[in-house]
Amino acid sequence: MSEKNYILLTHGGAGSKNEYQDGPVQAAKVGVKAIKSGASVMDVVCRAVAVLEDDSRFNAGVGSHPRADGSVEMDAAVMDSSGHFGAVAAVQGFKNPIYAAHAVTRTQYSVLAGQGAAKFAEKAGLEPMTVDQITARGVDFSTGEEATDTVGCVAFDGKNFAAGLSTGGIKGAIPGRVGDVPLIGCGLYAGPAGAVAATGDGETIARHMTAIRTYQMIERGDAPEKILEEVLHWFHPKDDAFGIILINRDGYAGGCNRPMAWSVVSEEK
Ligand code: ASP
Repeated sequence: MSEKNYILLTHGGAGSKNEYQDGPVQAAKVGVKAIKSGASVMDVVCRAVAVLEDDSRFNAGVGSHPRADGSVEMDAAVMDSSGHFGAVAAVQGFKNPIYAAHAVTRTQYSVLAGQGAAKFAEKAGLEPMTVDQITARGVDFSTGEEATDTVGCVAFDGKNFAAGLSTGGIKGAIPGRVGDVPLIGCGLYAGPAGAVAATGDGETIARHMTAIRTYQMIERGDAPEKILEEVLHWFHPKDDAFGIILINRDGYAGGCNRPMAWSVVSEEK
């Protein structure tokens, strides 16, 4: 494959139905428009992720799953290849946590959690959202439907890479539970060689340090499809829902051991 002018991939999370593919497609369109307008690559992934946060079919933003006590706590993170990283964990009351994560990249901190994160998001001017406004879909476990649908995006703008993730976490989990999303190198990673964004069982993704190990394979020059095949093997197909999107300068791969709506747009040099 030859080097690309840009590449952008979006996903609607492990377990997101193929019929929902228009969601990631729309998010990718918004991301590509941002690339063409000259936005920073970090801004690009945030704008794409925000489209999915605003789509109640996905487990992020307005579609976030409630915790065991009915509260909604969200995690989001963003990173670019110049090493900027920002995340929020267990934040409540905002429509687009990805923008709060972006705002964290402009501070001396890496991760803000809970009430502190919410106060920070308010000061940063984020649009508030009450639990009543959240269209939690009430996933029915008895039907075998998955409840793991973090949304994500990876992008290359011809120079730099970035990755972004946002999630409502696991439906019915104990309040305060935080998965892989805000942990650097677990749910996502970006560096000069590429970018990675995962979705699925956050505890297992974190234990495997999935994103940094995937990135290291990109860095040593492995082909994206080969990396995908290897990384999928780290997860038990029955017990651990897992999906991932990854890019280097000239290619990409995406896949999941569940259905996963995802989308790619790229342009040759
Ligand atoms: N990885 C997320 C978490 O564990 C769940 C998901 O992908 O929806 O919080």
